Amino acid sequence: MPTSVHQLDDGAWLSVNDARVVNVSDLWWLARQDFCSCDMTDFLAEGFVEIGVDHPDIEGRIAGQCIECGESGVTDWLTLGRVVDLESSRFLGVDPTSVHVPERRRRLASPTE
Ligand SMILES: [Zn+2]
Repeated sequence: MPTSVHQLDDGAWLSVNDARVVNVSDLWWLARQDFCSCDMTDFLAEGFVEIGVDHPDIEGRIAGQCIECGESGVTDWLTLGRVVDLESSRFLGVDPTSVHVPERRRRLASPTE
């Protein structure tokens, strides 16, 4: 069964196969990013902007703000977690407070595929 992912409620939630699995997380710790001029960005997430599937990973771009310098915008692609069981849509999220490296992406599968 294909995995369908969406963002809901203006980006507040990530949904996988119509189950709400992740509320947008408050703080992400980003390294090697172009988001702002800080070495490391302490990123306050405000909403999911785009969601994609790169099996088994679920990835997304998040709108928010660097709480160090105040720069706001949208991140490159971040791994949000992975679907560990397609039948039940069981989803394992990443820990946002560990270091994440946003990637400027290759094309992802369309969210509905
Ligand atoms: Zn910054």
